[in-house]
Amino acid sequence: MYDFMKLRIGTAGVPLSTETRDTINGIAQVRNLNLDAMELEFVRGVYVKSEKDAKEIGEAAKSHDVALSIHAPYFINLNSPDRKILEASRKRIIDSARIGHFAGARSVVTHSAYYMKMDRHEVFERVKGEYVKLRKELVERGYDDVVLRPESMGKSSQFAGVDELVKMCAEIGGGVLPCVDFAHYVALHNGAKNSYEAFSEILENIEKALGREALDNMHIHFSGIEYTDKGERNHLVFDEKSALGHPIIKWRDMVKAWKDYKIGGIAISESPNIEVDAIKAKEFYESL
Ligand SMILES: [Zn+2]
Repeated sequence: MYDFMKLRIGTAGVPLSTETRDTINGIAQVRNLNLDAMELEFVRGVYVKSEKDAKEIGEAAKSHDVALSIHAPYFINLNSPDRKILEASRKRIIDSARIGHFAGARSVVTHSAYYMKMDRHEVFERVKGEYVKLRKELVERGYDDVVLRPESMGKSSQFAGVDELVKMCAEIGGGVLPCVDFAHYVALHNGAKNSYEAFSEILENIEKALGREALDNMHIHFSGIEYTDKGERNHLVFDEKSALGHPIIKWRDMVKAWKDYKIGGIAISESPNIEVDAIKAKEFYESL
């Protein structure tokens, strides 16, 4: 098993500097860059289909000591009243978890749902019910070594922010843990929570609600971010100036909070320059 007690920092998908861009070469390049994790981006579809291919990817990851995670397709709405969309959403998550299981990826990150102007509490209960069902199905299929990771979103129209997700995961009571996207957090709060204290508060709340184990096994996304009062607009490079004049994400404060709370798990750079900010975060982390 991978050493998750340390925090592994890595890339969202194949690093841009990879010469021949495929998953296996991407894993090797992550190691060349002295990074420790890579998220397989199934965002436009689960592009790895067979058990054999998944196992091959898993072998490559193991030999390079690169921890894998998976980002499930974007096209998911567990709050859809349309049965077909709901079924397709479930299938995308299960298919992602299946590949994750065979590739040795421990986490599948999911965008859960849209509020669709419905009552927020009802949506919470509905989506929670869907995760309970998904979890049960993973257990039945033997894929329950994979943790489902609903991602904290950056727009108020999307389910959900970190606080709701932490609450939901605590109520589910296992197999589902939040993926904390720090850039989305800053965007969702329109820049009001962009400090060492704000970032620490997230970790504090996770420990309170989900226990120290959750801090030992975090899954994180990070990047710079552009936002409006409706939330996230697009990802930026860490120190890139916002066209709208917002302060940049205080990424050093974020990394310092990770260090101070001694978190373990995986932190994935989703900056447009992917590996450049991953390396920056890692070097700063190690300098602390
Ligand atoms: Zn995402």
